Amino acid sequence: MAGDAAAGTRYIFVTGGVVSSLGKGIAAASLGALLESRGQSVSVIKLDPYLNVDAGTMSPFQHGEVYVTRDGAETDLDLGHYERFLKTRTSKLSNFTTGQIYNNVINKERRGDYLGGTVQVIPHITDEIKRCILAGGEGADICLVEIGGTVGDIEGLPFLEAIRQFAVELGHHRVLFMHLTLVPYIASSGEMKTKPTQHSAKELRSIGIQPDILLCRVDRPLPENERRKIALFTNVSERAVIACIDVDDIYKMPGLLQTQSLDTLVLEHFDITAPSADLSNWAALVEARRAQDVTVRVAMVGKYVDLADAYKSVNEALSHAGLHTGTRVDIHYIDSETVERDDGDCLQGMDAILVPGGFGERGIEGKIAAARFARSNAIPYFGICLGMQVACIDFARDIAGLAGAHSTEFVPEPAHPVIALVTEWHDLAGDVQRRDAKADLGGTMRLGEQRCDLVEGTLAARCYDDSAVYERHRHRYEFNNRYRATLGNKGLIFSGVSAGDDLVEIVELDDHPWFLGCQFHPEFTSTPRNGHPLFIGFIAAAREHRQTLRDTAVS
Ligand code: GLN
Repeated sequence: MAGDAAAGTRYIFVTGGVVSSLGKGIAAASLGALLESRGQSVSVIKLDPYLNVDAGTMSPFQHGEVYVTRDGAETDLDLGHYERFLKTRTSKLSNFTTGQIYNNVINKERRGDYLGGTVQVIPHITDEIKRCILAGGEGADICLVEIGGTVGDIEGLPFLEAIRQFAVELGHHRVLFMHLTLVPYIASSGEMKTKPTQHSAKELRSIGIQPDILLCRVDRPLPENERRKIALFTNVSERAVIACIDVDDIYKMPGLLQTQSLDTLVLEHFDITAPSADLSNWAALVEARRAQDVTVRVAMVGKYVDLADAYKSVNEALSHAGLHTGTRVDIHYIDSETVERDDGDCLQGMDAILVPGGFGERGIEGKIAAARFARSNAIPYFGICLGMQVACIDFARDIAGLAGAHSTEFVPEPAHPVIALVTEWHDLAGDVQRRDAKADLGGTMRLGEQRCDLVEGTLAARCYDDSAVYERHRHRYEFNNRYRATLGNKGLIFSGVSAGDDLVEIVELDDHPWFLGCQFHPEFTSTPRNGHPLFIGFIAAAREHRQTLRDTAVS
């Protein structure tokens, strides 16, 4: 197989059985963190068995947030777990869907690459899957490949067949199969049941894959006799049957897996000698959570408030900021239509207000009202992407007196298009980038990491303690530069601009305790270890707000 370039890379394939939502992503990311702490360079790939070419056009209602990589791929939110747990960065080569694999194969067929041969699932689709896996793993010591879905799903079969072939071709010493299953506790009989795990392993074997390691999701300790039974029936060595017990804090997971020597098992399999793991940073995070002494209430005003995963990275970034400021962050999801109806009443008592990114008109006036409420009541405000745009619209209408100010995303020809479609701008290399208003929804956005220059002395520059930063984008509309002078004269501060000063990246106010909107998505780069400067600044301000409220109540 054409894999010689990656001669040294070892591959760990992570599959799931019995039911979905067992935490495959977190388990795989935790293993990755363990391996990194043992000096290995790790890359990750998520293979998704759905037909969408990428996650860009998928509704957050159904699928959770769209995660954006540094190089601008719109991917499954699981890549976010990996970036939060690992030091490695994901890219366009880290997420492949069935749709994308078929798309590649069909494009090759149309080009005539197959020389008139019959194009089939085996070998053409499976070859393409193997090619993508090799590309994603190239250069790393160990590549973790998570297969979405559950073993037994029809749509997952080509992926499983491809990884079976992959192991045959690369040799078993360079490939490891790890399978996550469920060992349920049946209350009426007071027993833990191993049968679903046995069946799941059998299902895998029937397609030619023998798991090397089983991670058993359990809600209580796995008794030794059950462990033995699972090992016996699944052909897995006893020490490779690992109990993945429910944890109250996901940062306990790497430690939990290490106490059962998961990292050592993996390294032994690959015949790698490595220094021992230092998990003190994970222990410090668990400790930091215990030490949180103040709780702040943050209102998250959005559209997808019923599905917590829709704002996964924002939730995580807030929680990281909480770890770094000793603050428990209590997020209150508020439907922007409610704010629209009650004119902000539901925001009373909040210590901070955040309007996250979003698309579509529904609830937009509520988001504008939320920004106004925060601005006029001196409540810390953080607007992300659409959240920055609504803050600009409110400011234009309310402070600059521009009645009818709006974004052309929602009103075709507003009296004052303060947010509008910019069809041309300069990229980092100084080249002109173009966007077409009439193109398909997929692929017309400003996407991925770009440089933002910070204006000295501003809140943004103080938070970052830097003069330029790189942040990730995912949007079509921009602040309209025709309004820069008008709004600037009224006190809106443009504290971050794109390289070359073409586009406004950050706005803020200085007659306010903490009011900042950014056109990019800082949540994608927040990690538990480091937090993110803007989120940390925001939560610190919320904490101060809480304190002031308490002091005023006491005096
Ligand atoms: N809908 C807005 C735009 O396309 C904002 C997008 C976002 O918040 N991610 O510009």
